[in-house]
Amino acid sequence: MDFEFSEEEQAFATEVAAFLQEVHSDDVMQPWKENFTQLVDTQPKRDFLKKLADKGWLGITWPKELGGQEGPGVLEYLLNEALAYVGAPQIGKGIGIIGKTLIRHGSDKLKAEFLPKILNAEVEFAVGYSEPQAGSDAANMQLRADKVEGGWNLNGQKIWTSGAAQAQWMFGLFRTDPEAPKHRGITMFLLDMRSAGIATQPIVTAKETAGIIEWDINEVFFEDVRIPVANRIGEENKGFTYQMTQFQEERLWAAANMIGGLEDAVTETTDYARQRQAFGRSILDNQVVHFRLAELSTEIESLCALTYQACEQYVAGDNVTRLASMAKLKAGRLGREVADACLQYFGGQGYMAEARISRLYRDVRLASIGAGADEIMLTIICKQDGTLPGQQ
Ligand SMILES: Cc1cc2nc3c(=O)[nH]c(=O)nc-3n(C[C@H](O)[C@H](O)[C@H](O)COP(=O)(O)OP(=O)(O)OC[C@H]3O[C@@H](n4cnc5c(N)ncnc54)[C@H](O)[C@@H]3O)c2cc1C
Repeated sequence: MDFEFSEEEQAFATEVAAFLQEVHSDDVMQPWKENFTQLVDTQPKRDFLKKLADKGWLGITWPKELGGQEGPGVLEYLLNEALAYVGAPQIGKGIGIIGKTLIRHGSDKLKAEFLPKILNAEVEFAVGYSEPQAGSDAANMQLRADKVEGGWNLNGQKIWTSGAAQAQWMFGLFRTDPEAPKHRGITMFLLDMRSAGIATQPIVTAKETAGIIEWDINEVFFEDVRIPVANRIGEENKGFTYQMTQFQEERLWAAANMIGGLEDAVTETTDYARQRQAFGRSILDNQVVHFRLAELSTEIESLCALTYQACEQYVAGDNVTRLASMAKLKAGRLGREVADACLQYFGGQGYMAEARISRLYRDVRLASIGAGADEIMLTIICKQDGTLPGQQ
């Protein structure tokens, strides 16, 4: 399949790059580092999102009647890729995924209430699917939503919920039919995090995670939490199906997101290795170094090709489960390889916590675990290829 950006897409990529050059990553990231206390200060993240909102980019591909700009679908992937250049990949990932699920399945009331807030960066969401016994096996979630008059009653626990202590709303999946096969009895809701009966307990503040400093990670406990009928997203017991589509988008975004950071890492490493001298010549002049950087660039180009192809087919309406899983798998693995190789060429400087390359080294590790671990991507690819045991 040929892939070529249109003039509009190229112009958008240039505009985003110029804007992001002004908002340099250190300005975006630094206050979060300095303000580590009990919980992470998310104000810089909010300010940055507001700037993106003011540009109209948070709904760049949404229909005009919903406040969007109706740009071609691939623009949001370009935006995502670019956000990784300024060290804000997690911000990129968060943009739009919830909005798009709401556009697809939300009631008119939910759309009217939440879409403008998303467009204007006025609301923070947590996403709750993981539970203590449901990580990779996400459909095994047990948090019960029992039907009561006017809505549901929630009891149980979520885990690993990023940013839950600060979010006003949770985009959550809860078990509404305990008798149904496990992926069929799950419903998607928008839950007000200020509801009575919710207790949030940071597992770790972000300071203590290996990487990704933007959020705190929490356990969230629910005791007789009421959720009104109006807050259900889509049909009852269809939540897991919706989540699967959302995962497909999240995985494409994760891959697009990785590209920017990795290209940036190779460029920075090349610059550093060129000016750093050892044994009377620049480190870059050693063949093992410039060959290795060329290999990494080749790998990144392959990831680009795979990701753009998957994005384009997805935007065209194809089912890209196989390609999106491959792109996510490749992104996670290549992220680790590039960060490790590049850090090596920075020597001791690269090992310093504040070095950008050291941050990338820590941050990329999550890509092979979150939103479906590498092994889950392999399982999906095998399923698509009909090679799982018992599949004919
Ligand atoms: C920093 C961070 C932020 C997160 N944020 C959120 C969030 O906001 N919301 C949310 O809902 N969740 C969140 N998560 C949870 C994340 O999605 C899960 O960690 C992920 O799905 C993996 O689940 P698990 O940790 O329970 O690993 P497990 O399911 O226990 O798996 C552990 C490992 O076992 C291997 N494995 C699992 N199954 C198989 C298999 N079938 N075959 C072979 N190997 C296998 C994989 O290598 C996997 O990494 C977050 C996690 C982290 C670390």
